[in-house]
Amino acid sequence: MWNSPKVGILGGGQLGRMLVESANRLNIQANILDADNSPAKQISSHDGHVTGSFKEPDAVRKLAESCDVITAEIEHVDTYALEEVASKVRVEPSWQAIRTIQNKFNQKEHLRKYGIPMAEHRELVNNTPEELAQIGEELGYPMMLKSKTMAYDGRGNFRVNSKEDIPEALEALKDRPLYSEKWAYFKMELAVMVIKTKDDVLSYPTVETVQEDSICKLVYAPARNVPDAINQQAQALARKAVSAFEGKGAFGVEMFLLEDNSLMLCELASRIHNSGHWTIEGCALSQFDSHIRAILDLPIPPKSLELLQPSIMLNIIGGATPDSHLKATEAALSIPNASIHLYSKGAAKPGRKMGHVTVTAATMHEAETMIQPLVDVVDTMRA
Ligand code: ATP
Ligand code: MG
Ligand code: MG
Repeated sequence: MWNSPKVGILGGGQLGRMLVESANRLNIQANILDADNSPAKQISSHDGHVTGSFKEPDAVRKLAESCDVITAEIEHVDTYALEEVASKVRVEPSWQAIRTIQNKFNQKEHLRKYGIPMAEHRELVNNTPEELAQIGEELGYPMMLKSKTMAYDGRGNFRVNSKEDIPEALEALKDRPLYSEKWAYFKMELAVMVIKTKDDVLSYPTVETVQEDSICKLVYAPARNVPDAINQQAQALARKAVSAFEGKGAFGVEMFLLEDNSLMLCELASRIHNSGHWTIEGCALSQFDSHIRAILDLPIPPKSLELLQPSIMLNIIGGATPDSHLKATEAALSIPNASIHLYSKGAAKPGRKMGHVTVTAATMHEAETMIQPLVDVVDTMRA
């Protein structure tokens, strides 16, 4: 046995909750740092949790005292506190990796050194209209103005269609550190979950992600109508990008598949990721199982990351009314082969991820047919 290690998790949202589900099955105690009654704490009854925020150094120090290894469900954590506790407790992935990745501009500057293809981009230093207009001249329109930090679900992105949009774009992302990206004319968005272990870099099959209003809506595993060569190339690119960082655990890599079938990195995350939720039903080991095993140096048979059955994941997102997500869930109850995951996050807000549903079937076509009625329900409930 592995002597019952304790895992500390910064953040107790839905990703932390699904990590706890995996840890529980191995009798591994997960100590969560987050508010009381956060989704992860609700399914884990013991006295090792810490109340507070992953942005508070004192709370991170307190968590470190009771754990063998610390990890994070989110990249927007206090990496200076992690750096400090790293002398006493293992931090996986490394605080250096999280620090670089949590700033999307620094992440890209780092990955550029490793030859990872990505959209051309420019840093804004003064955030003035003149500066952005100059960048617009260089990158062309449309371009995507992005916050370097604290970005998620597209909250931090602004599409600048022309010079006329510049004042509105700067107003929308006011007081944030910014950079701007050349528009990527992709035909599809792909993602790969990578698992970094003590001596290996493994990957799950390439999936197709569909974003609506910059929020992930659907994930198709495997990516539809993508030749195996591209599936393999995307996995290789994802592994190469993740290899540029130190530390163990799951990393989510988002990519663009361009018109000419070339691949470009969109961004990566130093954690379990929405594009990997399908692995709970679609593979023998889920991304959450693999993350727990990777950070504890437990074996991960590569075969356990292979696709068992075509899978489609649909996010249940807060919609037009406070109970939209419950109506969607009710509809999911009648879908064959649908696994429902609700996150118990309390009140729904438009755009808030409240749960997800995964449908598996013998063929992708069958899975598409089965999930379509639910997609229709979700579409009528959009805010
Ligand atoms: P996440 O929730 O995945 O962390 P985020 O807020 O960090 O999202 P990005 O992943 O950078 O944002 O972008 C969100 C979406 O916006 C992408 O999935 C893609 O659909 C679109 N997008 C981002 N960058 C570009 C680009 N350069 N050109 C075209 N579309 C883009
Ligand atoms: Mg992001
Ligand atoms: Mg993204």
